[in-house]
Amino acid sequence: MTEDPPITISQVQIPAAAHVLVSEVLSSGMLAQGPMVARLEALGAVMAGAGHCMAVNNGTTALVVSLEALGLEAGDEVVTSPFTFVATLNAILEAGATVRFADIGDDFCIDPDLVSSVVSDRTRVLMPVHLYGQPADMDRLIPIAATNGLAIVEDAAQAHGASVGDRPVGAAGLGCFSLYGTKNVTTGEGGLVTTDDDDLADRIRVLRNQGMRARYEYEVPGHNYRLTDLQAAVGIPQLESLGSINAQRSANAAKLSAGLDGIVGITVPTESPGRRHVWHQYTVRVSADAPIGRQDLMDGLARAGIASGVYYPRPVYDYECYRSHPLVRLDPCPNTERITSEVVSLPVHPGLSDRDIERIIDVSRSLLAC
Ligand SMILES: *Cc1c(COP(=O)(O)O)cnc(C)c1O
Repeated sequence: MTEDPPITISQVQIPAAAHVLVSEVLSSGMLAQGPMVARLEALGAVMAGAGHCMAVNNGTTALVVSLEALGLEAGDEVVTSPFTFVATLNAILEAGATVRFADIGDDFCIDPDLVSSVVSDRTRVLMPVHLYGQPADMDRLIPIAATNGLAIVEDAAQAHGASVGDRPVGAAGLGCFSLYGTKNVTTGEGGLVTTDDDDLADRIRVLRNQGMRARYEYEVPGHNYRLTDLQAAVGIPQLESLGSINAQRSANAAKLSAGLDGIVGITVPTESPGRRHVWHQYTVRVSADAPIGRQDLMDGLARAGIASGVYYPRPVYDYECYRSHPLVRLDPCPNTERITSEVVSLPVHPGLSDRDIERIIDVSRSLLAC
């Protein structure tokens, strides 16, 4: 009997068309930001249903430049989720703002009911994180932001093509997407900012390019946050097939849930009503009444050649460098503290075969059998 190949937690799939476009760039003699970036931006605008899309060199700088375009001043506060990748927090600190956290709900995203308690007269921005590819409850967050006069910056790094009702994520204010090597669409490193606001779009284009509007006409101190045509060429065919990439992820998630639902101590992830989840991660919760602990489940899966991961093991503020940081306010987040101890993500990427999915289900079920 041949042994089954290992199942990885993510898998990069580059369409053949990308090889052709990359060759085109290599032959063009122009590798930096140019026509391929413009093509990628046009597709990004369509993805987010937004009037503008600006490509940048990664998802973190997408967040930084968005906050900078809003003109935040020292002492201004940004309210975000404590259940996120550290880039969300680092971007706010790099922009010089103060961070406050509103706890999450069972959808793993910021709970609209808990936002008001951390909004002060210094709050300027609400930054929901569409974690694992599930949009936050934007139908409720948008009115809360409006009532309190807050700008919205969506951390949509994991949520390319997700939507709430008919509205794709990324156009509520400023939308920030990552094109890092493990995301649903990747250029290795890269990012996109989307918005309907003409002025903010203009400011971001200038900030991304050393603060230059025309050659050697410096308007503000800026950055080099540009993406290259080489990278854009890798991303264009993926954005063109985003619908089928996400449909494959969604089908894999449905099969996993059909196989894993009903196990004592395991809660399978759900798509909240009215929201389209794009399954960047498929994340179950292992609670105290499960027959084995989270680490035992992960170890057992690893012995069977199946990778899994904990995203994320602690609330993002729960590290000494942030606990002692003068710009980080420590608001209590008991839901996040509990959920970080329970989550484990299983492979859901489009490279999985039906046989792979069966193995993930069978091995999990046998490990969790009482
Ligand atoms: C990946 C990610 C980012 C940062 O993107 P990079 O492209 O890695 O800089 C920000 N927020 C979240 C939630 C992410 O998952």
